[in-house]
Amino acid sequence: MDLLTIDSLRNEQIEEILDSGTRWLSDLREGRISSTPLRGRVVFNVFYENSTRTAMSFATAAARLGAQPISLSVEHSSVRKGETLEDTARTLGAMRPDVLVIRHKDNGAPAIVAEIVDAPVVNAGDGTNEHPTQALLDAATIRDHFGRIEGLKIAICGDIRHSRVARSNAKLLPRLGAEVRLCGPAALLPGDSEATDCIDDAVRGADVVMMLRVQRERLEDELGDAPGEYLARYGLTAARLALASPQAVVMHPGPMNRGVEIDDAIADHPVRSLINRQVEHGVAVRMACLEMLARGG
Ligand code: ASP
Repeated sequence: MDLLTIDSLRNEQIEEILDSGTRWLSDLREGRISSTPLRGRVVFNVFYENSTRTAMSFATAAARLGAQPISLSVEHSSVRKGETLEDTARTLGAMRPDVLVIRHKDNGAPAIVAEIVDAPVVNAGDGTNEHPTQALLDAATIRDHFGRIEGLKIAICGDIRHSRVARSNAKLLPRLGAEVRLCGPAALLPGDSEATDCIDDAVRGADVVMMLRVQRERLEDELGDAPGEYLARYGLTAARLALASPQAVVMHPGPMNRGVEIDDAIADHPVRSLINRQVEHGVAVRMACLEMLARGG
């Protein structure tokens, strides 16, 4: 089994990942890991795009499970000598890792690797396509905070067009019973979605406001926004958050563009911001995913 897209997960598997993530999270918080089911295993981390949270949390998750995480430094690898993705996959596959985690700038690259490598492959973000473990950790964070996901209104705001996080969440959260509202500036919305460019409408009455980074590295044309303009028109400020439900919480997959899509005071809000909790859940949920995959699904 591979974990390339939310679509490939059955409902029972999603429940199992969330439940097992909850158990791993309490172990992590208590500072004692009850078992190391992947002892002696090897997890390859192959990141063709930059990462702090995802790369470190997969490595941490593997280590906590007793496995040995090994990272390919793509910058220093034969990729820079022009080796193709397929040849790199054949090479890495021949080393017989137990799980291979990959991030790539091209949509579909992890699926190509999964065709070649025998080990389970995890998509840690491919281009603008999907980032399934981010959606799973987001669901875990929401469920932990509210005790449920069913019936919640979740606004996902910002650069929807380039966001693999939005795409995976828009698949996962409705399956768990949430109402998902996508919104962003018209220039950053995909042509085929039901997203709105009215942020205030999307945020009004929402239980969760998930902000997305403006992915300037993927923009063909500059947005041309003046300093402060994005925050005022589309960003999350205290005034905009006041439109949401009184108990609304704020999420962001990181890295944040502070002062662009999110105001500092909101990002660091001691009660409303779940951003660091997302990171905590990221390790636990990735432990659950690695364990499930190494077991064979
Ligand atoms: N870290 C997330 C991703 O890799 C979100 C982002 O980069 O804005 O998709």
